[in-house]
Amino acid sequence: MRSDHDVFSGYVRAGWYPNQKPRSFRCGWCGRSVTSETGLQNYSDKLVGPLEPPGDEPEFKIEVRICNACNVGTTFFEDFQLPKPLRGETINSDGKDKALDLIVKLYGEARKALSQDCPSCAVLMFRKLLMHIAVQQGAKPRLRFVDYVDHLKSESVIGKPLFPLLDRIKDAGNEENHEIKRATTEEAEDLLNAVTHLIKSIYPQTTRSA
Ligand SMILES: [Zn+2]
Repeated sequence: MRSDHDVFSGYVRAGWYPNQKPRSFRCGWCGRSVTSETGLQNYSDKLVGPLEPPGDEPEFKIEVRICNACNVGTTFFEDFQLPKPLRGETINSDGKDKALDLIVKLYGEARKALSQDCPSCAVLMFRKLLMHIAVQQGAKPRLRFVDYVDHLKSESVIGKPLFPLLDRIKDAGNEENHEIKRATTEEAEDLLNAVTHLIKSIYPQTTRSA
């Protein structure tokens, strides 16, 4: 069996040291604001996978911080945090309506996509959510997307004052679907607020423990 000394010298050979200073952050797992003194740090000049190195420096600091509220690790590449705290409000379904449960779960997926720095995924999910909401509200499945939006408007599922919100979600999802561009985090967060408002106004029962 490897001794503690062997284990720690393996860490040191790989460049890992205990964190030198406390770090304050909002945990992406439990959502609490914490100051962590526990974790490891290293330096690297490359990232594996789809992430891009933060900034132009040839070498950057990686930290793994253990949250002292939930004990789960969060990774920092310099100041870039993964996972980030969930954005937007928590919405709960009542468990009695499967279609509504699905809408709430998909909404949760969009929030998680944003916490993983994937704004385009979130924007596409917002478009998909409009389709699910329309079907839950009586539209036939397999319609064209524009027909789902019309259903939400013409069947008075959504009041006229909210039409501009609906159109914004529709148009942003459309751009994401057809144009070669990536949504920004700001765009996605703005739409998240619009979608949250829409869901809460159609399903007021979902806001009881938000
Ligand atoms: Zn935590």
